[in-house]
Amino acid sequence: MNSIEQNIPLKDKTSFRIGGPARFYTRVNTEKEIGEVVSWANENNKPVFILGKGSNILISDNGWPGLTLDISEYSAISWDGSFASCQSGAPLHTLVKEAVDRGLCGIEQLAGIPGSVGGALIMNAGAFKQAVSDCLMSVKGIDCSNYKMWELEKKEIDFGYRTSSLKEMDTILLGANFHFEEGDRDNLKSVCRDILQRRNEKQPLDKPNCGSVFKNPEGNYAAALIEKCGLKGHHIGGAMVSEKHANFIVNVSDASASDVRKLIVFIQERVFREQGILLEPEVVFVGEFDDPLFKF
Ligand SMILES: Cc1cc2nc3c(=O)[nH]c(=O)nc-3n(C[C@H](O)[C@H](O)[C@H](O)COP(=O)(O)OP(=O)(O)OC[C@H]3O[C@@H](n4cnc5c(N)ncnc54)[C@H](O)[C@@H]3O)c2cc1C
Repeated sequence: MNSIEQNIPLKDKTSFRIGGPARFYTRVNTEKEIGEVVSWANENNKPVFILGKGSNILISDNGWPGLTLDISEYSAISWDGSFASCQSGAPLHTLVKEAVDRGLCGIEQLAGIPGSVGGALIMNAGAFKQAVSDCLMSVKGIDCSNYKMWELEKKEIDFGYRTSSLKEMDTILLGANFHFEEGDRDNLKSVCRDILQRRNEKQPLDKPNCGSVFKNPEGNYAAALIEKCGLKGHHIGGAMVSEKHANFIVNVSDASASDVRKLIVFIQERVFREQGILLEPEVVFVGEFDDPLFKF
């Protein structure tokens, strides 16, 4: 079986560069290794946290008390014409690039989203008018409680705005199959270029962050609501509401997870009091936090 390391810092494995250690940590490369470490976690009664590319999480300052299973190196992508079969740790941007290079469309608008294919499916990552689930055919995984492998067709999974029924299952996504339509390669490349440029212009990519902190409420934009409350530049400890994009919190000077959590609750409360809308976090909280999210 893979070696299980202890007390491994996780902050540098996240895009926020924040978070405490993994009490137990392992990196997996094969399906067999995944099965073995999950069975080790069950036998030793350790809750499992699956770490993709760490681009949508806030890990508590106390870290994760159980096993962190880093799946980011389980990352092969194979192609058969317009069909792609991906291991769940495959970088989403590689899938996008390889599809576009083949002149295949349906995923090009996701250019620039960091993260893995598995993390993207759990979150139903998307941008502009596309989501990762659009061209999905099927997903397979392993149940954490009984080690049973399962495979679901797209129609058996509920995908919503930045969420999926996969999130509610105690499961590890192993891989996914996609089918893309034929498109015009030059046009697809230019769409990707434009999107990457827009991301560079609008997002604070020079500072550690986790992408959009809040989901957009129906018919509105979280960024606009936060900006209307005058919160751009507001900070708690080392965490600051970005001056460039109000729905981004940036780690400006060694922020703790507690700084970020406090800032999230502060924003929720202020936006609710001034605009009457409760913002729902998109970022996934990992581990324990003292400050409860805002409720009214
Ligand atoms: C600069 C920036 C821009 C971004 N822009 C966008 C955007 O435009 N649209 C968008 O939707 N998102 C965006 N994001 C958020 C993020 O990139 C996506 O949500 C991404 O898909 C998360 O993938 P990940 O591998 O990093 O997941 P992680 O952050 O590692 O994990 C997220 C969740 O998925 C779970 N998970 C990950 N892999 C697996 C697996 N194999 N099996 C089971 N569970 C798993 C984790 O346990 C966790 O609960 C952005 C983030 C950043 C930093």
